[in-house]
Amino acid sequence: MGIETSEERNSQQRGLQFIPSLKDELRAFCDYCQFSPNQMWTAMGYFVKDLYTTRHAEIIQSLKSTEYPSLGGWVPVIADSRLMVVHNGYNVEKYKASEALRKRVAAASEKNVKPAATMLAAAGVTSLPSSGSKSIPSGVACRVAALEMLRHLWLIKKSGSHKLWVLSLPESYRDWPAADLAGKDYDNISNRLNDESSHFGEDDRKHLSQATQNGLKWVQKAMTVTANPKKKGNLDVVKRWFSDENSTDEDMQAAAATLNAGLKKIAGVIKSTFLLITDMPLDRGNPTKASTNAFVFSSEKIDVIYVEAAFFSNADMFKDLKNWTRIVVHELSHRACKTEDHRYRHNKAGLKPSAADPKFTAAKALENADSWAMFCMDCSGEMVQGDYLKVKVAP
Ligand SMILES: [Zn+2]
Repeated sequence: MGIETSEERNSQQRGLQFIPSLKDELRAFCDYCQFSPNQMWTAMGYFVKDLYTTRHAEIIQSLKSTEYPSLGGWVPVIADSRLMVVHNGYNVEKYKASEALRKRVAAASEKNVKPAATMLAAAGVTSLPSSGSKSIPSGVACRVAALEMLRHLWLIKKSGSHKLWVLSLPESYRDWPAADLAGKDYDNISNRLNDESSHFGEDDRKHLSQATQNGLKWVQKAMTVTANPKKKGNLDVVKRWFSDENSTDEDMQAAAATLNAGLKKIAGVIKSTFLLITDMPLDRGNPTKASTNAFVFSSEKIDVIYVEAAFFSNADMFKDLKNWTRIVVHELSHRACKTEDHRYRHNKAGLKPSAADPKFTAAKALENADSWAMFCMDCSGEMVQGDYLKVKVAP
Protein backbone atom coordinates (compact mmCIF):
# COMPACT_ATOMS: atom_id res chain seq x y z
CA MET A 1 0.00 0.00 0.00
CA GLY A 2 1.43 3.38 -0.91
CA ILE A 3 0.62 6.65 0.66
CA GLU A 4 -1.79 9.12 -0.79
CA THR A 5 -0.76 10.03 -4.29
CA SER A 6 -3.10 12.85 -5.24
CA GLU A 7 -0.55 15.52 -6.01
CA GLU A 8 -1.25 19.14 -5.45
CA ARG A 9 0.45 20.47 -8.52
CA ASN A 10 -0.25 24.01 -7.56
CA SER A 11 1.33 23.81 -4.16
CA GLN A 12 4.84 23.85 -5.56
CA GLN A 13 4.07 26.76 -7.83
CA ARG A 14 2.33 28.55 -5.00
CA GLY A 15 5.34 28.00 -2.81
CA LEU A 16 7.65 29.54 -5.37
CA GLN A 17 6.09 32.96 -5.19
CA PHE A 18 7.28 33.16 -1.59
CA ILE A 19 10.81 32.11 -2.44
CA PRO A 20 12.34 34.71 -4.73
CA SER A 21 15.38 33.32 -6.51
CA LEU A 22 17.24 36.62 -6.39
CA LYS A 23 18.92 37.69 -3.24
CA ASP A 24 17.03 40.63 -1.85
CA GLU A 25 18.90 43.09 0.23
CA LEU A 26 18.35 41.76 3.72
CA ARG A 27 19.92 43.74 6.50
CA ALA A 28 20.31 41.68 9.61
CA PHE A 29 21.23 43.42 12.86
CA CYS A 30 23.00 41.34 15.45
CA ASP A 31 24.07 41.19 19.03
CA TYR A 32 27.12 39.16 19.96
CA CYS A 33 28.33 37.93 23.31
CA GLN A 34 31.92 38.83 22.45
CA PHE A 35 33.39 41.38 20.15
CA SER A 36 34.25 39.85 16.82
CA PRO A 37 35.09 42.21 13.96
CA ASN A 38 34.61 39.45 11.40
CA GLN A 39 31.08 38.82 12.47
CA MET A 40 30.31 42.47 12.74
CA TRP A 41 31.17 43.30 9.17
CA THR A 42 30.51 40.09 7.33
CA ALA A 43 27.20 39.91 5.55
CA MET A 44 25.07 37.32 7.25
CA GLY A 45 24.07 35.68 4.00
CA TYR A 46 20.38 35.07 4.46
CA PHE A 47 17.89 34.94 1.62
CA VAL A 48 14.23 35.95 1.55
CA LYS A 49 13.29 32.27 1.75
CA ASP A 50 15.08 32.12 5.11
CA LEU A 51 12.87 34.75 6.73
CA TYR A 52 10.28 33.49 9.16
CA THR A 53 7.80 35.84 7.44
CA THR A 54 8.25 34.00 4.14
CA ARG A 55 7.35 30.73 5.81
CA HIS A 56 4.45 32.34 7.63
CA ALA A 57 2.91 33.36 4.31
CA GLU A 58 3.53 29.82 3.08
CA ILE A 59 1.68 28.33 6.09
CA ILE A 60 -1.36 30.49 5.28
CA GLN A 61 -1.29 29.20 1.69
CA SER A 62 -0.71 25.56 2.67
CA LEU A 63 -3.57 25.61 5.19
CA LYS A 64 -5.95 26.60 2.38
CA SER A 65 -5.49 23.15 0.85
CA THR A 66 -8.72 21.21 0.41
CA GLU A 67 -6.83 17.96 0.96
CA TYR A 68 -6.78 18.24 4.73
CA PRO A 69 -9.30 15.82 6.31
CA SER A 70 -12.85 16.95 5.58
CA LEU A 71 -14.48 14.41 7.88
CA GLY A 72 -13.84 13.24 11.42
CA GLY A 73 -12.00 14.60 14.45
CA TRP A 74 -9.35 16.60 12.58
CA VAL A 75 -11.87 19.00 11.04
CA PRO A 76 -12.13 21.40 14.02
CA VAL A 77 -8.36 21.33 14.54
CA ILE A 78 -7.71 22.28 10.92
CA ALA A 79 -10.43 24.94 11.09
CA ASP A 80 -8.82 26.48 14.18
CA SER A 81 -5.37 26.25 12.59
CA ARG A 82 -6.60 28.28 9.62
CA LEU A 83 -8.00 30.95 11.96
CA MET A 84 -4.92 30.95 14.17
CA VAL A 85 -2.46 32.02 11.46
CA VAL A 86 -3.21 35.63 10.59
CA HIS A 87 -1.50 38.17 8.39
CA ASN A 88 0.76 39.74 11.06
CA GLY A 89 1.33 36.70 13.26
CA TYR A 90 -0.92 34.47 15.32
CA ASN A 91 -4.38 34.89 16.83
CA VAL A 92 -4.19 34.39 20.60
CA GLU A 93 -7.85 33.30 20.68
CA LYS A 94 -7.13 30.30 18.44
CA TYR A 95 -4.03 29.04 20.22
CA LYS A 96 -6.08 25.92 21.04
CA ALA A 97 -5.09 24.65 17.56
CA SER A 98 -1.46 24.22 18.71
CA GLU A 99 -2.58 22.66 21.97
CA ALA A 100 -4.93 20.27 20.15
CA LEU A 101 -2.15 19.10 17.82
CA ARG A 102 0.14 18.36 20.78
CA LYS A 103 -2.64 16.65 22.77
CA ARG A 104 -3.62 14.44 19.86
CA VAL A 105 -0.03 13.42 19.19
CA ALA A 106 0.45 12.63 22.90
CA ALA A 107 -2.81 10.68 23.16
CA ALA A 108 -1.93 8.62 20.08
CA SER A 109 1.57 7.95 21.44
CA GLU A 110 -0.01 6.38 24.52
CA LYS A 111 -1.65 3.90 22.15
CA ASN A 112 1.71 3.28 20.46
CA VAL A 113 0.86 5.37 17.41
CA LYS A 114 3.95 7.36 16.48
CA PRO A 115 3.77 11.15 16.05
CA ALA A 116 4.58 10.80 12.35
CA ALA A 117 1.49 8.69 11.75
CA THR A 118 -0.69 11.14 13.68
CA MET A 119 0.72 14.21 11.91
CA LEU A 120 0.44 12.63 8.46
CA ALA A 121 -3.18 11.69 9.21
CA ALA A 122 -3.81 15.31 10.22
CA ALA A 123 -2.35 16.33 6.86
CA GLY A 124 -4.91 14.16 5.08
CA VAL A 125 -2.85 11.03 4.45
CA THR A 126 -5.35 8.20 4.53
CA SER A 127 -3.02 5.21 4.31
CA LEU A 128 0.59 4.82 5.28
CA PRO A 129 3.31 2.70 3.70
CA SER A 130 3.86 -0.50 5.65
CA SER A 131 7.63 -0.31 5.44
CA GLY A 132 10.61 0.97 3.53
CA SER A 133 11.35 4.27 1.91
CA LYS A 134 8.43 5.68 0.06
CA SER A 135 8.49 9.05 -1.55
CA ILE A 136 6.11 11.65 -0.17
CA PRO A 137 4.08 13.83 -2.56
CA SER A 138 5.10 17.45 -2.24
CA GLY A 139 1.54 18.47 -1.34
CA VAL A 140 1.65 16.17 1.68
CA ALA A 141 5.00 17.62 2.75
CA CYS A 142 3.58 21.17 2.50
CA ARG A 143 0.49 20.31 4.51
CA VAL A 144 2.31 18.47 7.26
CA ALA A 145 5.00 21.19 7.40
CA ALA A 146 2.33 23.83 8.12
CA LEU A 147 0.92 21.77 10.98
CA GLU A 148 4.41 21.01 12.25
CA MET A 149 5.06 24.75 12.68
CA LEU A 150 1.87 25.06 14.75
CA ARG A 151 2.60 21.93 16.81
CA HIS A 152 5.87 23.50 17.98
CA LEU A 153 4.48 26.96 18.63
CA TRP A 154 3.95 28.12 22.23
CA LEU A 155 2.03 31.06 23.61
CA ILE A 156 3.67 32.04 26.88
CA LYS A 157 1.30 33.94 29.12
CA LYS A 158 2.62 35.75 32.14
CA SER A 159 0.94 37.74 34.84
CA GLY A 160 -1.14 40.62 33.57
CA SER A 161 -1.68 40.83 29.85
CA HIS A 162 1.85 39.92 28.75
CA LYS A 163 2.02 37.34 25.96
CA LEU A 164 4.84 36.02 23.83
CA TRP A 165 4.91 33.52 20.98
CA VAL A 166 7.87 31.11 20.89
CA LEU A 167 8.49 28.77 17.97
CA SER A 168 10.59 25.87 19.20
CA LEU A 169 11.27 23.34 16.45
CA PRO A 170 12.79 19.93 17.32
CA GLU A 171 16.58 19.87 17.31
CA SER A 172 16.91 17.68 14.21
CA TYR A 173 15.48 20.37 11.92
CA ARG A 174 18.08 22.17 9.84
CA ASP A 175 15.65 24.52 8.10
CA TRP A 176 12.00 25.58 8.43
CA PRO A 177 9.75 22.51 8.08
CA ALA A 178 8.49 23.42 4.59
CA ALA A 179 12.08 23.44 3.32
CA ASP A 180 13.43 20.70 5.55
CA LEU A 181 10.67 18.18 4.79
CA ALA A 182 10.51 18.92 1.04
CA GLY A 183 11.79 16.02 -1.02
CA LYS A 184 12.24 13.68 1.93
CA ASP A 185 10.94 10.12 1.78
CA TYR A 186 8.62 8.59 4.31
CA ASP A 187 11.39 7.33 6.59
CA ASN A 188 13.17 10.67 6.72
CA ILE A 189 10.01 12.70 7.17
CA SER A 190 9.05 10.32 9.96
CA ASN A 191 12.40 10.88 11.68
CA ARG A 192 11.64 14.58 11.85
CA LEU A 193 8.00 14.20 12.88
CA ASN A 194 8.94 11.68 15.58
CA ASP A 195 11.59 13.99 17.06
CA GLU A 196 9.97 15.22 20.24
CA SER A 197 12.83 17.42 21.40
CA SER A 198 12.26 21.16 21.70
CA HIS A 199 14.96 23.69 20.83
CA PHE A 200 13.76 26.03 23.60
CA GLY A 201 12.84 23.86 26.56
CA GLU A 202 10.20 24.85 29.08
CA ASP A 203 12.68 26.87 31.18
CA ASP A 204 14.06 28.63 28.10
CA ARG A 205 10.57 29.58 27.00
CA LYS A 206 9.81 30.94 30.46
CA HIS A 207 13.06 32.94 30.42
CA LEU A 208 12.31 34.39 26.98
CA SER A 209 8.94 35.53 28.26
CA GLN A 210 10.53 37.04 31.37
CA ALA A 211 13.03 38.87 29.16
CA THR A 212 10.33 40.50 27.03
CA GLN A 213 8.22 41.35 30.08
CA ASN A 214 11.25 42.84 31.86
CA GLY A 215 12.15 44.63 28.63
CA LEU A 216 8.78 46.34 28.71
CA LYS A 217 9.46 47.40 32.29
CA TRP A 218 12.86 48.88 31.33
CA VAL A 219 11.39 50.67 28.34
CA GLN A 220 8.56 52.14 30.40
CA LYS A 221 11.04 53.42 33.02
CA ALA A 222 13.10 54.98 30.23
CA MET A 223 9.94 56.54 28.79
CA THR A 224 9.32 58.23 32.14
CA VAL A 225 12.87 59.63 32.18
CA THR A 226 12.75 60.87 28.60
CA ALA A 227 9.26 62.35 28.96
CA ASN A 228 10.58 64.75 31.63
CA PRO A 229 14.05 65.76 30.48
CA LYS A 230 13.92 68.97 32.49
CA LYS A 231 13.38 67.15 35.76
CA LYS A 232 16.48 67.07 37.92
CA GLY A 233 18.50 63.95 37.32
CA ASN A 234 16.72 62.84 34.16
CA LEU A 235 18.81 64.90 31.75
CA ASP A 236 21.96 63.57 33.45
CA VAL A 237 21.01 60.01 32.52
CA VAL A 238 20.39 61.04 28.90
CA LYS A 239 23.74 62.88 28.83
CA ARG A 240 25.55 59.87 30.27
CA TRP A 241 24.82 57.77 27.18
CA PHE A 242 24.14 60.29 24.43
CA SER A 243 26.28 63.42 24.93
CA ASP A 244 29.76 64.23 23.70
CA GLU A 245 31.92 67.28 24.40
CA ASN A 246 29.94 69.42 21.95
CA SER A 247 26.43 68.55 23.15
CA THR A 248 24.27 71.30 24.62
CA ASP A 249 21.33 70.85 27.00
CA GLU A 250 19.02 71.69 24.09
CA ASP A 251 20.62 68.88 22.07
CA MET A 252 20.01 66.48 24.94
CA GLN A 253 16.39 67.56 25.30
CA ALA A 254 15.95 66.86 21.60
CA ALA A 255 17.66 63.48 22.08
CA ALA A 256 15.24 62.71 24.93
CA ALA A 257 12.32 63.43 22.59
CA THR A 258 13.79 61.09 19.94
CA LEU A 259 14.34 58.39 22.54
CA ASN A 260 10.84 58.81 23.96
CA ALA A 261 9.20 58.44 20.56
CA GLY A 262 11.27 55.32 19.78
CA LEU A 263 10.68 53.75 23.19
CA LYS A 264 6.93 54.09 22.69
CA LYS A 265 7.27 52.07 19.49
CA ILE A 266 9.30 49.36 21.27
CA ALA A 267 6.68 49.15 24.04
CA GLY A 268 4.01 48.85 21.34
CA VAL A 269 5.77 45.85 19.77
CA ILE A 270 6.11 44.03 23.11
CA LYS A 271 2.46 44.68 23.96
CA SER A 272 1.16 43.78 20.49
CA THR A 273 0.60 39.99 21.07
CA PHE A 274 2.29 39.39 17.69
CA LEU A 275 5.92 39.33 18.85
CA LEU A 276 7.53 35.99 17.99
CA ILE A 277 10.81 34.50 19.15
CA THR A 278 12.35 31.64 17.22
CA ASP A 279 15.83 30.53 16.32
CA MET A 280 17.08 30.34 12.73
CA PRO A 281 17.14 26.55 12.14
CA LEU A 282 19.68 27.01 9.33
CA ASP A 283 22.22 28.26 11.89
CA ARG A 284 22.02 25.27 14.19
CA GLY A 285 25.42 23.73 14.72
CA ASN A 286 27.13 26.42 12.61
CA PRO A 287 30.38 27.25 14.45
CA THR A 288 30.64 30.69 12.82
CA LYS A 289 27.38 31.66 14.53
CA ALA A 290 28.37 30.37 17.96
CA SER A 291 28.81 33.79 19.59
CA THR A 292 25.63 35.29 18.13
CA ASN A 293 23.10 36.17 20.83
CA ALA A 294 20.25 37.24 18.59
CA PHE A 295 19.43 39.14 15.42
CA VAL A 296 16.53 40.71 13.57
CA PHE A 297 15.86 41.80 10.02
CA SER A 298 14.93 45.46 10.05
CA SER A 299 12.63 45.08 7.04
CA GLU A 300 10.87 41.85 8.02
CA LYS A 301 7.09 42.25 8.01
CA ILE A 302 6.38 40.23 11.16
CA ASP A 303 8.04 41.18 14.47
CA VAL A 304 10.49 38.29 14.91
CA ILE A 305 13.54 38.10 17.15
CA TYR A 306 15.88 35.27 16.16
CA VAL A 307 17.41 34.00 19.40
CA GLU A 308 20.66 32.22 18.65
CA ALA A 309 23.26 29.93 20.22
CA ALA A 310 24.95 32.37 22.62
CA PHE A 311 21.76 33.88 24.04
CA PHE A 312 21.61 31.56 27.05
CA SER A 313 25.39 31.16 27.36
CA ASN A 314 27.34 32.73 30.16
CA ALA A 315 29.90 34.43 27.94
CA ASP A 316 28.51 37.98 28.03
CA MET A 317 29.62 40.75 30.41
CA PHE A 318 26.02 40.75 31.70
CA LYS A 319 24.30 37.59 32.86
CA ASP A 320 20.93 35.91 32.93
CA LEU A 321 17.73 37.97 32.95
CA LYS A 322 19.64 41.25 32.87
CA ASN A 323 21.46 40.20 29.72
CA TRP A 324 18.45 38.56 28.08
CA THR A 325 16.46 41.75 28.69
CA ARG A 326 19.27 43.89 27.28
CA ILE A 327 19.33 41.74 24.12
CA VAL A 328 15.55 42.03 23.66
CA VAL A 329 15.66 45.83 23.98
CA HIS A 330 18.72 46.01 21.69
CA GLU A 331 16.99 43.93 19.00
CA LEU A 332 13.64 45.70 19.23
CA SER A 333 15.39 49.06 18.90
CA HIS A 334 16.59 47.82 15.49
CA ARG A 335 13.07 46.80 14.54
CA ALA A 336 11.06 49.69 15.94
CA CYS A 337 13.56 52.59 15.79
CA LYS A 338 15.86 51.53 12.93
CA THR A 339 18.94 51.71 15.13
CA GLU A 340 22.34 50.55 13.84
CA ASP A 341 25.23 48.63 15.35
CA HIS A 342 27.83 51.40 15.41
CA ARG A 343 29.43 50.12 18.59
CA TYR A 344 28.90 47.26 21.03
CA ARG A 345 29.23 47.35 24.82
CA HIS A 346 32.37 45.19 24.65
CA ASN A 347 34.22 47.61 22.36
CA LYS A 348 37.50 48.50 24.02
CA ALA A 349 36.67 52.22 23.75
CA GLY A 350 33.42 51.74 25.67
CA LEU A 351 30.05 53.36 24.98
CA LYS A 352 30.72 57.00 25.95
CA PRO A 353 30.33 59.17 22.84
CA SER A 354 33.27 61.37 21.86
CA ALA A 355 33.27 64.40 19.56
CA ALA A 356 36.84 63.48 18.61
CA ASP A 357 35.83 60.01 17.41
CA PRO A 358 33.82 60.30 14.17
CA LYS A 359 32.76 56.66 14.56
CA PHE A 360 31.04 57.34 17.86
CA THR A 361 29.87 60.90 18.29
CA ALA A 362 26.72 61.87 20.21
CA ALA A 363 24.77 61.61 16.95
CA LYS A 364 26.10 58.09 16.34
CA ALA A 365 25.22 57.01 19.89
CA LEU A 366 21.64 58.14 19.35
CA GLU A 367 21.49 55.68 16.42
CA ASN A 368 23.24 52.86 18.30
CA ALA A 369 21.28 49.81 19.50
CA ASP A 370 23.49 48.94 22.47
CA SER A 371 23.37 52.58 23.67
CA TRP A 372 19.57 52.40 23.69
CA ALA A 373 19.63 49.09 25.55
CA MET A 374 22.15 50.27 28.15
CA PHE A 375 20.23 53.51 28.63
CA CYS A 376 17.08 51.50 29.39
CA MET A 377 19.03 49.29 31.80
CA ASP A 378 20.29 52.44 33.53
CA CYS A 379 16.81 54.03 33.74
CA SER A 380 15.43 50.81 35.24
CA GLY A 381 17.88 51.05 38.13
CA GLU A 382 19.45 47.67 37.32
CA MET A 383 22.99 48.98 36.80
CA VAL A 384 25.52 48.59 39.60
CA GLN A 385 28.81 50.51 39.87
CA GLY A 386 30.79 47.78 38.12
CA ASP A 387 28.42 47.82 35.16
CA TYR A 388 29.37 51.40 34.31
CA LEU A 389 33.04 50.43 34.41
CA LYS A 390 32.42 47.53 32.04
CA VAL A 391 31.14 49.86 29.34
CA LYS A 392 33.45 52.78 30.28
CA VAL A 393 30.66 55.23 31.00
CA ALA A 394 30.94 57.41 34.10
CA PRO A 395 28.11 56.79 36.60
ZN1 LIG B 1 22.46 44.89 16.93
